[in-house]
Amino acid sequence: MSSARVETAAVVKADAYGLGIAPVARALQKAGARSFFVATAEETPALRQAVGNGADLYVFSGFMPTDAEIYRATGAIPCLNSAAQVSHFSQQTGMGRCAIQIDSGMNRLGMEPEEYAALSERIAGLNPVLTLSHLACADEPEHPQNTAQLEVFSATAEGRRSLAATGGTLLGAPYHFDMTRPGIGLYGGLPFADARPVVRLSLPVIQTREVMPGEAVGYGAAWTAKTPCRIATVSAGYADGLIRAMGNRARLWAGDTPCPLAGRVSMDLLTVDVSHLEHDPDTLDILGPHQSVDDLADAAGTIGYEILTSLGARYHRRYIGG
Ligand SMILES: *Cc1c(COP(=O)(O)O)cnc(C)c1O
Repeated sequence: MSSARVETAAVVKADAYGLGIAPVARALQKAGARSFFVATAEETPALRQAVGNGADLYVFSGFMPTDAEIYRATGAIPCLNSAAQVSHFSQQTGMGRCAIQIDSGMNRLGMEPEEYAALSERIAGLNPVLTLSHLACADEPEHPQNTAQLEVFSATAEGRRSLAATGGTLLGAPYHFDMTRPGIGLYGGLPFADARPVVRLSLPVIQTREVMPGEAVGYGAAWTAKTPCRIATVSAGYADGLIRAMGNRARLWAGDTPCPLAGRVSMDLLTVDVSHLEHDPDTLDILGPHQSVDDLADAAGTIGYEILTSLGARYHRRYIGG
């Protein structure tokens, strides 16, 4: 969506949004990504191992006093967020490159424009390879804070610049500067409405049983059969990131056929009404072509980002293509 002169970096923080940093970063590298962003220095050793020494690794949280050793080992680039971080970084020896993060209005990370101006000489001495900022409201294209932050960033940031994550990339060329930094859009999530799902989650059915009218299923006996039912018990629960709050609004899928949850989400199990299926299924899908991460997020009252990053460690992960 950006022009040929704009670099597209890839955000792979939080284990590539829960999908597995090594295979995901390698696939993105194969697709052309040369710069990768993570949230913390602790994420960089695994990333460096995955993508090798040719890639640039950036860290949003910048330079914390305990991070020096990791930065020396991985050659990652901290995004310095404050005068204190600039000082800590400058006092270290053998630290390599840095970037500068400006706060253009989100008030979360980065230097205020005045702080940035006051430090301009010291920052110039560090020769930062990138100056970045982050939009708070890019998923709402009409939100006035988008243009406000764009103006602050344009007027403040010097050198090579990056403002846009997924939402900002969709806002158009004025937001692209020299580099875009999409995350969620790479993983099939809103606000990139045209994104294709990249994750399918199939859950094994452990057992299936008949339930008679008046019998209840699950904790709190919160669901009661009105007619004779077949209930499938599926091996995954809120400990696997299937957020308990999704309640009975989420469905599981036997191929193209939706099956409603029956009863509460347990830690390790779901109970699903499969009465209308011709055969008992071996597996049921909770993420796939019929139910995206955003659909499941709606059911749970959250956002696709949280569904992805909650996906637990007990799943067997298979990577196709890339
Ligand atoms: C997480 C993050 C991104 C990526 O955001 P998406 O909305 O997932 O595209 C980019 N920049 C910063 C500073 C971030 O924290």
